[in-house]
Parts: sequence; structure tokens; C-alpha cells
Amino acid sequence: MRYVMLGPPGAGKGTQAVRISNRLGIPHISTGDLLRLADVATPAGAAARTLMEAGHLVSDEIVVDLLFERIRRSDARKGFILDGFPRNVIQAEILDEWLAGQDEGLDAVLEIYAPVAVLLDRVLSRSAQAVSAGSAPRADDNETTLRQRLESYRMETLPLSDYYHRKGVLMSFDGTCNIDALATAIGEQIPAVGR
Ligand code: AMP
Repeated sequence: MRYVMLGPPGAGKGTQAVRISNRLGIPHISTGDLLRLADVATPAGAAARTLMEAGHLVSDEIVVDLLFERIRRSDARKGFILDGFPRNVIQAEILDEWLAGQDEGLDAVLEIYAPVAVLLDRVLSRSAQAVSAGSAPRADDNETTLRQRLESYRMETLPLSDYYHRKGVLMSFDGTCNIDALATAIGEQIPAVGR
């Protein structure tokens, strides 16, 4: 059970990934979360934080190290759902190579798409909700950084739709509906993931 969630910021991939992770009993692995936990006192951690706060992608070397350290752990032996990785073709090739070395492959890549206006609205309201709940919003959930994250997505991550389509594992979903409707659509298309 090896899945990848693909989609721009605000598409809802994290929410769906958590549901699928709970349903299948496999870990939800978000490279964004791993990077946010990285120690900023180290040169790699500090470099990553600067790039994240500007809305740019972190170097493949840093992200790949963090990801493989995580997916080699015993709880991921049965499978995992990746959220935010891969983010470019080089990362996708590195993942494929690693999976091939394990005699494994991806069961499906779940792509969630939505128009930019919807993504902006969702991310900015997520930030406003965090503030009104008294917690700190994500440093990259502001309009300027979000526009850069969307541009990084368009330039570097979007080619992965084609990459995975050619491999026959891509399933695409309209992310403009509500969370439950999207979960239902995913379950209908990929019965193994359930509803
Ligand atoms: P996310 O939590 O997935 O929105 O990721 C937040 C930020 O972490 C991104 O805007 C990037 O700066 C960085 N990031 C997360 N995953 C990756 C990745 N696979 N490759 C490069 N940068 C990443």
C-alpha cells in the first residue's frame, strides 16, 4: 500500500492523506511536516527554513535524506501515504528507484486539483483561523509566499501529472467539493482506499 498525494497548496491533500492513513493503518508522511520539525540550529535546517518561508522548494538532497530516514522505519514497512513528496521529476525518479530496489511500486498517485482562487481563499482562511484560535499561523500561509508556492508548483511539480499518467498510476480528483464528497469520490475510484 504505497500512495502519493499530488496537488497544489490548499487542494486538501493533507486532509485526505490523514483519512486514508487512518483507514489503511499506514503512516501519513508529509515532507513539509518533517521540514518544519528540522532543527534550525543546523546549517541544513536553517537553509530549509529560509527557502520554505520564501515559498521556494528546499534542495532535493535535504528532502530526500529526511524522507528516506522516515520511510525506512518499521511502521512504514507495510506501506505509506506521501504528502508533498515528490515535488519534481528528480525526486520522483529517486523514489521510483528506491521502490524498485524493494521490489515495490506505487499503487496510485492521487492528484487533487482546484482553481487558484479557491486555493488562495482556503490557505488564507486557514491562516486567519489559526490567528483567531490564538495559535501562530504557518509562516508561509500569507498571500505573497502562497503565490510563490503556487508558481513553484506550476513550474516544478505539475510535470509530475504527466510523469505518473505515463506510468498508468495517476488518478485525478476535483478538489473544489467538500472534504466528505472528495473522500467519497476517492473511495469510488480506488476501492482499496475505502470511503
Ligand atoms: P507543505 O507542508 O507540503 O506545503 O510544504 C511546505 C514547504 O516545505 C514547501 O513550500 C517547500 O518549501 C518545502 N517542501 C516540502 N516538501 C518538499 C519537497 N518534496 N521538496 C522540496 N521542498 C519541499
